[in-house]
Amino acid sequence: MSRSNLAAVLCALALTVSSSHPLSAQAVEPIRYTLRFPAPQTHYVEVEASIPTAGRPDVEVYMATWTPGSYLIREYERNVEAVTASNGTTALAVEKSRKNRWRITTGGARTVMFRYRVYSRELTVRNNWVEAGFAMLNGAPTFVTLPDGGKRPHEVKVELPAAWKGVQTPLMPVAGTATTFRADDFDTLVDSPIIIGNPVVREFTVDGKKHALVLEGDPSLFDADRAAADVKKIVEAGRNVMGPLPYPHYYFLNMVTESGGGLEHKNSFLGMSGRFTTRTHRSYMGWLGLIAHEYFHNWNVKRLRPVELGPFDYENENYVKMLWVAEGFTDYYGDVLPRRAGIATREEFLDGLSNQIEAVQTTPGRLVTPVNMSSYDTWIKQYRPDENTANTSINYYPKGAVIAFLLDAKIRKSSNEARTLDTGMQWAMQRYSGDKGYTPTQFYDVMSEAAGTDLKGWFGKAAESTDELDYTEALDYFGLRFRPTDPRGARAFIGSGTRNDGGRLVITSVRRGTPAIEAGLNVDDEILAIDDVRVRADGLAARLDQYKPGDQIAVLVARRDKLTKIDVMLGTEPGRAWRLEVSPTATAEQKTRLAAWAGQ
Ligand SMILES: [Zn+2]
Repeated sequence: MSRSNLAAVLCALALTVSSSHPLSAQAVEPIRYTLRFPAPQTHYVEVEASIPTAGRPDVEVYMATWTPGSYLIREYERNVEAVTASNGTTALAVEKSRKNRWRITTGGARTVMFRYRVYSRELTVRNNWVEAGFAMLNGAPTFVTLPDGGKRPHEVKVELPAAWKGVQTPLMPVAGTATTFRADDFDTLVDSPIIIGNPVVREFTVDGKKHALVLEGDPSLFDADRAAADVKKIVEAGRNVMGPLPYPHYYFLNMVTESGGGLEHKNSFLGMSGRFTTRTHRSYMGWLGLIAHEYFHNWNVKRLRPVELGPFDYENENYVKMLWVAEGFTDYYGDVLPRRAGIATREEFLDGLSNQIEAVQTTPGRLVTPVNMSSYDTWIKQYRPDENTANTSINYYPKGAVIAFLLDAKIRKSSNEARTLDTGMQWAMQRYSGDKGYTPTQFYDVMSEAAGTDLKGWFGKAAESTDELDYTEALDYFGLRFRPTDPRGARAFIGSGTRNDGGRLVITSVRRGTPAIEAGLNVDDEILAIDDVRVRADGLAARLDQYKPGDQIAVLVARRDKLTKIDVMLGTEPGRAWRLEVSPTATAEQKTRLAAWAGQ
């Protein structure tokens, strides 16, 4: 359909609807934005929003305070300034009506122009960055909208500075234009990052769908060709797990900076990576793991979501108990996809899974908070960690990933290898994707069906209680074991985290169940000496190596500037007791199952 045909249809629709339901007629009138960068080196984007008023005497617009996938109220409105409104020729009164809302007196105008500038200098995947060479914009921190919800289209026109050649975004281009894009609704606008500048782009096709790897920032040292070839393999591995590619196109938007992180979107992801990422095997594999995780999200959370995650309330926290599936299961597939794609070895795959298990089993908070409540409280805990976080809560990424691993083994075993976790995820996708969303019970039911046995009780223990996870069944099924640790190599252990604060050795965390907490060492204590011999800021580990587990030491600390001597009985370093390896006594049958799951 050409643009003029589309306009005709929309007009006809508006006329039809307006006769019976005037408000709905207005719902199809788009908000049109123009983005300008008159001085990008000052980190500002100028936004002009043309807002339909439906003839109302005043309209209120708002900016989101958070963005989906990153569960913290960010107060994006704090970066907005120079707010004005006009009817095109005459200034209109505009006042702030809430921290993130503005009320415009329309004077009867059918459309008002709302202008503002956004300071854009936070180089994270959930915010904006504008500099002389490029702009990275997200929807939530950039665009105001009307609070009427619904399916109002939003159009974005980018006016390019002379030195910038193009725009890369998963938004649909408006036919006949180079830099104007359209979102069917505000959700889509928020879900579509925009990269403007001169990025390096590598395109490839899978199942007839366009995929683009977009590198902006400083990609001069980034091996784009190799990266695109491996990303393509991950796309194919994901398709083999979850079925047909559900998007019109997909953009891997990768900022080559010295930051990290990634944020999922329906038809794209926005990530950050170091400029040396493709130089070493280790950093490159880490990046491909991030790619696999974020890409798998296009199914798990963006299309198959917990029921609470939509429609979004962009001004308030949205509470959800199932992030251990949305993030944790995605993290499991973040290890699975590179293995299935032939990029990671079986040892690397088992190593990644071991890291997840170790993260769970060495966090004291696993015995305090069930993982579904860690998810629920993520707004106030996981996204706002402090020195006591590890003692009181469990990260739902690793615990969810470990539950996915145990569940995968369980489904394979009880279905006699007829089905796997992939089957459960496919069935969940078929039943609950789109606007439906799933409840915990629905998710447990579909996985029970895949297993052919009722798993509600098992999920209750694994996800809704603080019981220890039981690895016996999964390890036995695949012929795996935790690598035995050598007691002769045991090191003395104190159990506090420290940092070098300008030459001062300061305690940053004290974990439960460690000698440090038993003896009464505190966060913010400055360690000065052990047994009357000074410990320099970078010398604690070397000093502890001079002792054995069970030795008694006297630690001299400065606590709020007062010197105090504290006796500590050293413990044994927990060691790496959670590293998976193939059992030397694995049977042929176990090895066959292991190969079916993790390859040869
Ligand atoms: Zn994620």
